[in-house]
Amino acid sequence: MTKQFDSDPENWPQPIDGELGATDEGPRDVMRDKENPDMSVPPRTDSGTFYNLKFSYSDTHRRMEKGGWSREVTIRELPAAEDLAGVNMRLTAGGVRELHWHKEAEWAYMINGTARVTCIDPEGHSYIDDVAAGGLWYFPAGFPHSIKGLTDCEFLLIFDDGQFSENSTFLLSDFFAHIPKRVLAKNFGVDESAFDNIPDSELYIYQGDVPGSIEEEQPKNRNGQPPKPFTFNLFDQEPIKTSGGKVWIADSSNFEVSKTVAIALVELEPGGVRELHWHPNGQEWQYWLQGQGVMGVYNSAGQARHFNYREGDVGLVPYAAGHYIENTGDETLRFIEAFKSDRFADLSVNQWLSQVPARLVKEHLGVDDDFIDNALCSEKRPNVKFD
Ligand code: MN
Ligand code: MN
Repeated sequence: MTKQFDSDPENWPQPIDGELGATDEGPRDVMRDKENPDMSVPPRTDSGTFYNLKFSYSDTHRRMEKGGWSREVTIRELPAAEDLAGVNMRLTAGGVRELHWHKEAEWAYMINGTARVTCIDPEGHSYIDDVAAGGLWYFPAGFPHSIKGLTDCEFLLIFDDGQFSENSTFLLSDFFAHIPKRVLAKNFGVDESAFDNIPDSELYIYQGDVPGSIEEEQPKNRNGQPPKPFTFNLFDQEPIKTSGGKVWIADSSNFEVSKTVAIALVELEPGGVRELHWHPNGQEWQYWLQGQGVMGVYNSAGQARHFNYREGDVGLVPYAAGHYIENTGDETLRFIEAFKSDRFADLSVNQWLSQVPARLVKEHLGVDDDFIDNALCSEKRPNVKFD
């Protein structure tokens, strides 16, 4: 028994709610039970059979390489996650995620440190940029790209297909290793001996040198820039402020190339609530960046479930399911909500009910005029729609 938590079973939380439940004398993972109070003893409003909507990066396999590591949460880890998959990656200074491409578009958020990314479009335009914390990139499906740490850096990658795997991308080294050297020589118009030192299998991540400035590293015969940048600074915009927190949105309305991934980065102060809402344009895939909270999800036909999350967790909301998130910790909660869509969109219950006849609301919910005036018509209503 770890010393980190109270080893005295007398002090363990017990799954007893009034007259419901019974003690759990073990075997049990008390650390995890304590992390998941709303799963261990659910609110009585929870009911029905439900998808699992939580997977922690701490429960994934970490692929270890010289120059960094990666780990992924895909449909294999979280079977309801059909729309999007996520990879958490760290590179050392000079560490390289090698030149590669894949069938899925790639969206990224730089969590800390700085990296240099490269990409070309099908017209051969060359794109090179440095991305610091709070920076995003988006590479359309099939466009070849690379990532190199300028400092030690960590980022979240999101791909627009839950089936994606970071271990099945198309790699420059793997491609060359599977073409006869006679053909490589003919392709480049050089002698076969030019390829004496090519790797015989994939590099994936390797330790390289920290590069100089972008100016110093320009290709000799550079073709010029693509029409729209593949990078974007999320925090260059003023956040939307509400009484409970702040929101920054990035979608194709401000980050034009990002045609298949739309996101909001949400900050909730302690006790703050991301109001009751749902999304008309797909599943919500979440990455929890900081703090802890609880999410309640309603998925029609009496199905409802609560899940507890902490930083490093992935959360999911089924398409069109109603939900809310509450900061249950004592620090600012930060999470990213991502959608396979060209735009961020949500439907707020507060806004909905404020825009239909009050008589309908009163008939449905048994509420009175005070509720209509204070909750729906007041400028001071506690939760404000984000967009
Ligand atoms: Mn990639
Ligand atoms: Mn949502």
